[in-house]
Amino acid sequence: MNYPNLFTPLDLGFTTLSNRILMGSMHTGLEEERGSLTRMAAYFAERARGGVGLMVTGGIAPNRQGWLMPFGAKMTNRSEARRHQLVTQAVQSEGGKICMQILHGGRYSGHPFLVAPSSLKAPISPFKPWKMSNRLIKATIQDFARSAALAREAGYDGVELMGSEGYLINQFIVPRTNQRQDEWGGDFERRMRFPMEVMRAVRAAVGPDFIIIFRVSMLDLVEQGSTWEEVVQLAKALEAAGATMINTGIGWHEARIPTIATLVPRGAYAWVTERLKGALAIPLIATNRINTPEKGEEILAAGMADMVSMARPFLADPYLPKKAKEGRAQLINTCIGCNQACLDQIFDRKVASCLVNPRACQETILPPDGQLAKQLQKVAVVGAGPAGLSAATELAGRGHEVHLFEAGPEIGGQFNLAKRIPGKEEFYETLRYYSSLLELRKVKVYLNTRVVPEQLLEGNFDRVVLATGVVPRQPVMPGIEHPMVVSYLDLLNGKVAPGRRVALVGAGGIAFDVATLLTTSAPSADPVDHYLKEWGVDPSYAQRGGLVSMPLLPADCNVWILQRSEGKVGARLGKTTGWAHRLALKNRGVKMLSGVQYELVDDRGLHIKVGGKAQLLEVDQVVICAGQESLRDLYAPLKEAGLQVELIGGALEAAELDAQRAIREGILVGVGEPVV
Ligand code: FAD
Ligand code: NAP
Ligand code: SF4
Repeated sequence: MNYPNLFTPLDLGFTTLSNRILMGSMHTGLEEERGSLTRMAAYFAERARGGVGLMVTGGIAPNRQGWLMPFGAKMTNRSEARRHQLVTQAVQSEGGKICMQILHGGRYSGHPFLVAPSSLKAPISPFKPWKMSNRLIKATIQDFARSAALAREAGYDGVELMGSEGYLINQFIVPRTNQRQDEWGGDFERRMRFPMEVMRAVRAAVGPDFIIIFRVSMLDLVEQGSTWEEVVQLAKALEAAGATMINTGIGWHEARIPTIATLVPRGAYAWVTERLKGALAIPLIATNRINTPEKGEEILAAGMADMVSMARPFLADPYLPKKAKEGRAQLINTCIGCNQACLDQIFDRKVASCLVNPRACQETILPPDGQLAKQLQKVAVVGAGPAGLSAATELAGRGHEVHLFEAGPEIGGQFNLAKRIPGKEEFYETLRYYSSLLELRKVKVYLNTRVVPEQLLEGNFDRVVLATGVVPRQPVMPGIEHPMVVSYLDLLNGKVAPGRRVALVGAGGIAFDVATLLTTSAPSADPVDHYLKEWGVDPSYAQRGGLVSMPLLPADCNVWILQRSEGKVGARLGKTTGWAHRLALKNRGVKMLSGVQYELVDDRGLHIKVGGKAQLLEVDQVVICAGQESLRDLYAPLKEAGLQVELIGGALEAAELDAQRAIREGILVGVGEPVV
C-alpha cells in the first residue's frame, strides 16, 4: 500500500474518517461572493472526489461583530443553515465529510464595530476594538453554540472552533490581548474561561456524535503569548470538555515570522504538535507547510501527529490523496507556497485561486480538466516556460495533437532560474508535474529547438501558440557597457561569478531573489533548525510565545538593492511575503535605497544620486534586474503568412508578468477562451 500511515482510517468513535488527511480551513473569498454557495459546493465536492479524509470550510462568523469583513459569511439563522445544505449535500454525495469553521475575528475583524477582551488595537488592523462587556461575552458564547447547532442542521459533519492565529478566542487566552481583571481575565484559569465555556456550550448544543475540532494556538510567535504549560493545560481541559480532535495553530497574523511561505521548510512545525503527543488521548493534527504525501507520511510514521492538515495543497491539486493512494504521486500538482494567487488575492479582497492551478475556486467557470474539444487540431506551442507548458498540457488533455518546441535543453523557461534561489526549491515540483503530464498526454516535445517561422509554416499546424517569454530589459545608463555590469540572467545561469560588493539595479522580485542567492550561506544540513534559528523561534519555549530575538546574520558580501521610484523598496512584492523577504535581507546586511538616479558605471563603481546628493557605491559588480520586454519575433511573419497565431505569457505582455498570469493564459488558450 502506498503511504500506509496516511491511508489508515481514523476511528473517532461515532464516525470514521477514511484517511489521515485533513483539508485545513482556508478563506477563499467564495464565502462572500454572489451565488457563493453554488460555487462553494462545486469547490468542496471536487476535493471530496479527490479522496480527502475530512475538510474544513473557511471561517464563518457566529455573529455580525465577529465578521472578518462587512457582510462576511455568518451562520446565525435557519435560512443560512438551509442554504449551506447545498455544500454539505454536494460533499456527502461524493462520499466526503466536512466541518464548518466558526471564527470570530475579535480585534482582527475588518469593520469598525469590532470587539475584543480589551480595547487594544492590533498592529495589522486600522480599527481599535470595543472592550466586551460581561453580557456581551456571555451572548457571544451562546452565538458560538447556536452557530454550531445550525451547522449540524445544515448537514455538516462537525465544526472547527478557531482558537488560534490571534482571533477572538486566542485573544482571551493570552496576556498580550487580555488585560481584564474580572472573571474573564487575570490569571490563566480566568483567561481560559472563555474558550472553555465556548467549548462546553458548543458540545451541549450539538450532542455527543458530532465532530468538534478545536484549533489551539500552540505557538503564538508574539510577545506575551501563551507558555507551553498553558497550552498543555488548555488542551487537556478541552479534551475533558468534549473536543474530538485538537488542531495545531502556529503564529498570529501579526507575528513577524513567516510560517507558511515557501521559504519555510516543509513540515517545519510538526515538532510543536509532537510536543503535545502523549498528553492527550484524542487525535492531534499537525499543520504548516505539509505539501506532499511523503511529508505527511513521514510525520505520521514518526508518531508526531495522528492526522496531517494540508490547506493550500488542495487548491493546487484537489486530487492529491487519490493520486497518492493510486501510485500516481508524480502527477500531483504541488503547492509551491508562493501565496501569490491565494492569500495575496484574499488580502486584496479578491476570490482566491492558485498560481499552479487556475481552476481552483473557478470550478463553475472554467471547463473541467480533460474535457475533449469538439474539433481536434494539430497545434504548435513555442516555448516551454510556464505559459507554454500550461497551454500544451491543457490542449493535449482536450485531445489535440500538440507539438511543443523549446529552444533550451530542458522545459521550464524562467522557472529553471527560480528553482535555484534558496527557499524556492518548490519550483522543481511544478516542473516535475508538467514533465509527467507532458508524458501522460503524449505531447511531442522538441528540446534544443529554437523555432524559426519556416518550420512552423511547413508543419501543417492548424494553430500556433507563441509562449516565447521575455528578454531582460537593458536600461540606458552611462557606462552600461562596463565589464562589471552583468544581467541577472548570466548571474543566475552561472555564466558569471558573483561579486563581493554588488549593486542591483531594480528592486522587483528578481532583484530580491538575486540578493537572496548572493547572501545565502551554504545549504544547511538541518533546514528546519536553520530556519528556526534565523527567525528567532525557540523550540525550547523558554519564553511566552516561543520567541527569542532574531539574530543578525550579516552575509559575506555587500549588496545594495536600488530603485528609481520613491517609497518602500520592493513595494510591489507579494503582500503576504514581501515583508519577510525585506526583513530577511536587511538582517543579512543588504542595504536598500529608493529614489535613486543612475549616473555612471566606471572602474570605481556605481555613481548614483539620491535626493540630489551624489554618492559612489564602491562595487565590483552591477547586476541589471530592471524588468523585461516581450520576445515575439515570430508573431508578425506567421500572422502575415495567414497562420492562426495566439500570444500568451511574457510573449503577450511583459509588464506585470508573473507565473500566475502565464499559467492562467495557457489554460485559457487551451480551453479556447479569450486571453484577457
Ligand atoms: P518564460 O518562462 O520566459 O519561457 C519562455 C520559453 O520560451 C523559454 O524557455 C525560451 O527558451 C523559449 N523560447 C523563446 N523563444 C523560442 C523559440 N523561438 N523557439 C523555441 N523556444 C523559445 N514568477 C512568479 O510568479 N513568482 C515567482 O516567485 C517568480 N520567481 C522568479 C524568480 C526568478 C529568478 C525568475 C527569473 C523569474 C521568476 N518569476 C516568478 C517569473 C516567472 O518565471 C515568469 O513570469 C514566467 O516564467 C513567464 O512564463 P513564460 O512562459 O511567459 O516565459
Ligand atoms: P519588476 O518586478 O517589473 O521589477 C523591475 C525593477 O526594475 C523595478 O524595481 C523597477 O523600479 C526597475 N526598473 C524598471 N525599468 C528600469 C530602467 N529602465 N532602468 C532602471 N531600473 C528600471 O521585474 P522583475 O524583478 O524582473 O520581475 C519580473 C516578474 O517576475 C515580476 O512581474 C514579478 O512578479 C515576477 N517575480 C515574482 C517574484 C515573487 O517572489 N513573487 C520573484 C521574482 C519574479 P524603478 O522603475 O523604480 O527603478
Ligand atoms: Fe500554493 Fe501558491 Fe497555489 Fe497558493 S497560489 S495554493 S501558495 S501554489
